[in-house]
Amino acid sequence: MKYDVVVIGAGASGLMCAATAGYRGRSVLVIEHTKKIGRKILMSGGGRCNFTNIHNDASNFISENAHFCRSALSRYRVQDFIDLVERHGVEYHEKTLGQLFCNESSKEILQVLMTEAEWAGVEIQTELTVNYVKKAENGYLLKTSRGDIVAGSLVIATGGLSIPNGGATPFAYEVARQFGMEVLPTRAALVPLTLQPDLLVPLKPLSGVSHPVEVSCGGTSFKESMLFTHRGLSGPAILQISSYWEPGQAISINLFPEEDLLGWLKVQRQERPKADVATIMSQKMSKRMAQILCELFSFSGNMADLSNQTLEQITTAFTKWLIKPSGTEGYRTAEVTLGGISTKEVSQKTMEANKAAGLYFIGECLDVTGHLGGHNFQWAWASGFVAGQAV
Ligand code: FAD
Repeated sequence: MKYDVVVIGAGASGLMCAATAGYRGRSVLVIEHTKKIGRKILMSGGGRCNFTNIHNDASNFISENAHFCRSALSRYRVQDFIDLVERHGVEYHEKTLGQLFCNESSKEILQVLMTEAEWAGVEIQTELTVNYVKKAENGYLLKTSRGDIVAGSLVIATGGLSIPNGGATPFAYEVARQFGMEVLPTRAALVPLTLQPDLLVPLKPLSGVSHPVEVSCGGTSFKESMLFTHRGLSGPAILQISSYWEPGQAISINLFPEEDLLGWLKVQRQERPKADVATIMSQKMSKRMAQILCELFSFSGNMADLSNQTLEQITTAFTKWLIKPSGTEGYRTAEVTLGGISTKEVSQKTMEANKAAGLYFIGECLDVTGHLGGHNFQWAWASGFVAGQAV
């Protein structure tokens, strides 16, 4: 079988690329090795797919080359995807911080892409394994579990390593290495952080409790909510900082990002001198959280007995809480993979490999990792679109 374009990976970027190429009159085959296409789209956004972010720009991405993503993002804009979902009648809403979610279900986003692919004449084959790829005279030869396939252009859209039991494979990195391309070290990102038992045990009763925080690490900070879990810390603020955290580093948590805690404590000492410190702190958080944290930080006694210096120590403990995570939950639960194929190896305009004409890499397999909030899908749509225009 021979196609103008073969896309390996029927996820977000692969389906976008295939439909775009199909509309340009190319014969397109999409190969998916699992039974189900678009599995991560279905899982995303808690089942409602946070499909883009109205504030999306290059500053929402982590990459060795911070400018690489600009070209694609400017050629396929947030509004282009919004127009697409609106044409298909998908209803959506802005949750917070510019994040757009489906009102009903992520199935609607997958349906939009499948309908587009169908209208564009794209063929999709599932449960098809590509054993290896090699350069042929006029394109690429694919040895597959159902025989040989020849592709004029070959697009690798197999994503990163997160959620291995959902179909993730290192296929893209292997193909890149095969063609002499540099692959940067990868690690799990947008992932919960785990804690050592000395902290985990006292915090265990808080599992399930969420609190607004500002969390910082190495000069980067995020103001969102944090969730205590039975293994450590999660919630949007922690997922965001996990992309910047490296093993051995401490993160700093401010439990009162919007307040002058010291000033407030001084007022409380005057107004409620007989109340103990945990009771006072429980005005700002749940009673249990106030008790556990005061115990953990070793603060007790009535407000009247606390010196200015102690109030300063309390303020520091609650606003600069330094925690050294023991690790992350890893690829098992990570939303994305940091690192990957070096952006030096592909054209920022088309995603074509510099060292192999007709070979393209799109989506998460590249060293372009978005912040939480719809940015990773916007990268998948944009990189898929520009490659689809070029193949
Ligand atoms: P994928 O969408 O992962 O697609 C890759 C496809 O290739 C898969 O179908 C896979 O089975 C297939 N494949 C892999 N190896 C092979 C092989 N060897 N042969 C053939 N096929 C192969 N991002 C957001 O922007 N908003 C969200 O709300 C959001 N929520 C998320 C929730 C979860 C739980 C997870 C895990 C991720 C979430 N993300 C979200 C991230 C987003 O899903 C990814 O960034 C995006 O799907 C990447 O697109 P992709 O096309 O590169 O890869």
